[in-house]
Amino acid sequence: MESYPLANTAEIGRMDIETSLILVFLVSAIVLGGAILALVAWWSQRHTDKRGTEPRKMTERRERGECVICGYDLKGNLSGRCPECGTRIWQ
Ligand SMILES: [Zn+2]
Repeated sequence: MESYPLANTAEIGRMDIETSLILVFLVSAIVLGGAILALVAWWSQRHTDKRGTEPRKMTERRERGECVICGYDLKGNLSGRCPECGTRIWQ
């Protein structure tokens, strides 16, 4: 039967703690990184239309026949400009 010196046993224990700390850190970094990426993806999807070129609010206003800048109701408007803010009306 072999007996190991106390110093060796302590060394092995310390290294195990370091290894598990590194593993915990790596897993946390991966999980946090994934969560942040998911949050950014969710936010940009929420605030842009499908093409991602225009804020969703502007798309919704245009679809409702309102001025995309100020939201003024442009139904029946023939001048081609918003009477409220002067923005050119895109058809
Ligand atoms: Zn307007």
